[in-house]
Amino acid sequence: MPSDYYQLLGVPRNATADEIKSAFRRAALKYHPDRNPGNKQAEEKFKELNEAYEVLSDPKKRQLYDQFGHAGVQGQGGGPGFGGGFENVNFGDVFGDIFESFFGGGRAQRGRGRRGADLKYDVEVSLEDAYHGTQIPISFERTELCDACGGAGAKPGSGLKRCPTCKGSGRVQFAQGFFSLTQTCGQCGGEGQMIETPCRNCRGAGRARRRAQLTVRIPPGVQDGTTLRIQEAGEAGSKGGHSGDLYVLVRMKHHSHFERQGNDLIYDCHLSFPRLAMGCTLEVPTLNKEKAKIRIPAGTQDGAIFRVREKGMPKLGQRGYGDLLVKVLVEIPKSLTTKQRELLAEFAKTLGEKVDLEEASIFKKIFGGE
Ligand SMILES: [Zn+2]
Ligand SMILES: [Zn+2]
Repeated sequence: MPSDYYQLLGVPRNATADEIKSAFRRAALKYHPDRNPGNKQAEEKFKELNEAYEVLSDPKKRQLYDQFGHAGVQGQGGGPGFGGGFENVNFGDVFGDIFESFFGGGRAQRGRGRRGADLKYDVEVSLEDAYHGTQIPISFERTELCDACGGAGAKPGSGLKRCPTCKGSGRVQFAQGFFSLTQTCGQCGGEGQMIETPCRNCRGAGRARRRAQLTVRIPPGVQDGTTLRIQEAGEAGSKGGHSGDLYVLVRMKHHSHFERQGNDLIYDCHLSFPRLAMGCTLEVPTLNKEKAKIRIPAGTQDGAIFRVREKGMPKLGQRGYGDLLVKVLVEIPKSLTTKQRELLAEFAKTLGEKVDLEEASIFKKIFGGE
């Protein structure tokens, strides 16, 4: 169930349109994905805010929402899914120049073109790279604006001409019996204008398939499944519409020493029975090249876990680190020398256990131990 739109924006139910607008502006600036790269929660929040604003900024939708709640505006607002609601909010209107200066523009009004499709790309990242953060070059096919005509589809220098079919009105009328029908002009798509001479490079399409090279910044702390959004790096839009976004899905490579559990790292440490029984000091590796020193107290049991604070993975988009969990496992020798066997037998005797050294040596003769 989505949250209450008024609560999300932090405004009373009788808030004016201006109050709603400035509340949205404040919240959206705070949670904008550009200011919270890789932060899933901020992205979700941003989507919710967009959805809330989309409904509450429209008097008709707001009235429906007030009367019927979410059910009243379902299917009208930006539903769930990729970029839900982004396209429907007029950012230029809300943010004006401030938006441009904060985020380098791009989202402000740009005609009524169609937004390009989103793209998805998978990258594989090692645990070390996820710890320090890294930059990964990627290469993929996408539709880009034609270089020669900048996406206009017209031969550079040539202009637009009035559509000969509709004579510039964008609509065509024709009679059918008693009725007269009006339809969008098929020749110009309702624009009323047409390209005079098509661009030779793209044959008037304004777009072309091209191989794009990008560098993706992987922030420290990414996890398996983290999705990074690179704004407007997807397919080019048409008729001046925005490009779609590129979603980079992070997959983690297996690590030979560490297992990861959220922000914590688990390290298995195999120790002999005497070291566990008598206690010892250990040095365990970490991902920041330093060794972590831990004290294993005498009498430590098999499977005991020791927590080393802040030696795990960095927290994505936050300060601080997870912990390193050192799991101690007892190692039983697979073979013993005669000397070791005698000493162990001696030890067993002190526990009141009967050990047959003869049997052990017969066993050795048959199977050729040692
Ligand atoms: Zn026309
Ligand atoms: Zn072109």
